[in-house]
Amino acid sequence: MSTEMQEAHNLAMAIIRELKSTLRQVAVAAKLPENSELITDLAPHVRKLADFAEAPIDMVLHCPACGLQHIDAPGADVDANGPCYDHHWDNPPHRSHLCHGCGHIWRPADVPTNGVAAVKTHGRADSVIVKR
Ligand SMILES: [Zn+2]
Ligand SMILES: [Zn+2]
Repeated sequence: MSTEMQEAHNLAMAIIRELKSTLRQVAVAAKLPENSELITDLAPHVRKLADFAEAPIDMVLHCPACGLQHIDAPGADVDANGPCYDHHWDNPPHRSHLCHGCGHIWRPADVPTNGVAAVKTHGRADSVIVKR
């Protein structure tokens, strides 16, 4: 798993921390009460940013032990190609993935990830995703 993605996540979290602290500093400097319009207007945006940064990252995942592609989906059928656990699975954010092919459990990154058939964008020179 790329350290770039990990770094991007850490950077996003650092920016949000900075935003929250800047917002507090502005409020203190301007002697604004906790519930001033500025604070109440900006708080939901900061929260939205935090939610975005904490959302699972879509990834093309292959089991490191057997190579089977791992796809996460709510209600995934156990016979499908690599979904998690059981029929009642609602795909909550998770860091460790269970390979349906061999039972290997691994953590591709230190943040929640979501196994997908393909990510939403692709580079002009990208090769076709290899299905295994
Ligand atoms: Zn496997
Ligand atoms: Zn999974």
